[in-house]
Amino acid sequence: MRYISTRGKAPVLNFEEVVLTGLARDGGLYLPESWPQFSHDDIQSLAGMRYAEAAAFLLQPFLGDSIEAADFHAMTEKAYTAFSHEAVVPIRQMGANDFLMELYHGPTLAFKDVALQLLGLLYDHLLARQGKRVTIIGATSGDTGSAAIEACRGREAVDIFILHPKGRVSEVQRRQMTTVLDANVHNIAVEGDFDDCQAMVKAMFNDHDFRDSLAVSAVNSINWARVMAQIVYYFTAAVSLGGPARPVSFSVPSGNFGDVYAGYAASRMGLPVEQLIVATNRNDILSRFFNSGEYRKAGVDPTISPSMDIQVSSNFERYLADLYGRDGAAVSELMARLDSDGGFVIDRLRLNDSLFAAGKCGEAETIETIRRTFEETGTLVDPHTAVGLFAGQNCRKDSHIPLVTLSTAHPAKFPDAVEKATGERPALPKHMSDLFAREERFAQLPNDIETVKSYIRERARILAPH
Ligand SMILES: *Cc1c(COP(=O)(O)O)cnc(C)c1O
Repeated sequence: MRYISTRGKAPVLNFEEVVLTGLARDGGLYLPESWPQFSHDDIQSLAGMRYAEAAAFLLQPFLGDSIEAADFHAMTEKAYTAFSHEAVVPIRQMGANDFLMELYHGPTLAFKDVALQLLGLLYDHLLARQGKRVTIIGATSGDTGSAAIEACRGREAVDIFILHPKGRVSEVQRRQMTTVLDANVHNIAVEGDFDDCQAMVKAMFNDHDFRDSLAVSAVNSINWARVMAQIVYYFTAAVSLGGPARPVSFSVPSGNFGDVYAGYAASRMGLPVEQLIVATNRNDILSRFFNSGEYRKAGVDPTISPSMDIQVSSNFERYLADLYGRDGAAVSELMARLDSDGGFVIDRLRLNDSLFAAGKCGEAETIETIRRTFEETGTLVDPHTAVGLFAGQNCRKDSHIPLVTLSTAHPAKFPDAVEKATGERPALPKHMSDLFAREERFAQLPNDIETVKSYIRERARILAPH
């Protein structure tokens, strides 16, 4: 499999290079040149497989000859043993045709573990083989950081620097990052918001000297391997609910558009998907886009679903590339207009696609959905999941088609909102019950790219004399 940049001007790479590179050198994101195809028989054959086997089977075509099939299968087996539920991503029935897919049984209690546990092993494998090291730099609005740190802690070939917006992630989220004291883990609290953090990471990637001298790599959802790993659970969920014979719909709490883009990829690979519902909180650039064709920045308002508090969605560019038939020049022009004019409008004809629907859920609606879900089903859901449930009910076209809402975080990760809504304070799972007693370590830096760069330069071991 070959990978091309959404902007068409970066070198074409193989899987190994794409995993270690992250953002393309022309500022774009890498995409597989074509979508591997799975027949209904292929999809049917997933029915007897465990999750790790299904992952190895579905993802093999993306690897090309970068990784031996047996090695990759060993990686998927290992990655998902870190999950506390035997089914890895169990499905819970909530109503006649309503289901929750619990993606939060990994080490940091959010769905990002599903991809990052695998990515950590991919790094290990590929770097050890090449005798190389990397410096991973990422920005987090809360969950990516801890999941990336958990996946990379203690790994000899990796130094990891995670920027988070100071005071804008929950205390559980912060502590899940800052209490990891391994020497290769560096947490930076930036005096700014998530978009400031993300913009700094992008700028560091676009500084080729900096990037090359530190062998910088990304674990944000701009890394292709993350999107790839998330494709698997759309297939396994659909098959467990009667797919591929019966189509299934998904409602996906969305921020950077990585998770729902993986659902789109699954549909392009042959999975019958009726609807993909893009669920946003009041930071709603995505739902505005799918309802109007206009993609335009607005400010970022902090919400009780902070992992979706974004101004622009980095993976959206991948979808744009497909909308424009992989025309790199057209994508570059739109992205330039996003920078210069704050937005752009897509030709209505291009959007004539009934796969996507989108809805927004405000703060009061989020609380009300948590309350009502608890009252009606006895299930505690976190605020991100509630956004998905709310938008899912508002946007589904056909209540006879099973709707799977992705439950992206454990309720105990956002206990204040859950308690406010239900009166119940969800408990952390046992292995984390001492989180509030653990020692924290992090640096606090101004929202200034040069300061952050020097901080990283001084600490990345890549430059240390041998
Ligand atoms: C990251 C995250 C999301 C948003 O996922 P995207 O891939 O960025 O759209 C939703 N919910 C939770 C809990 C998250 O951590």
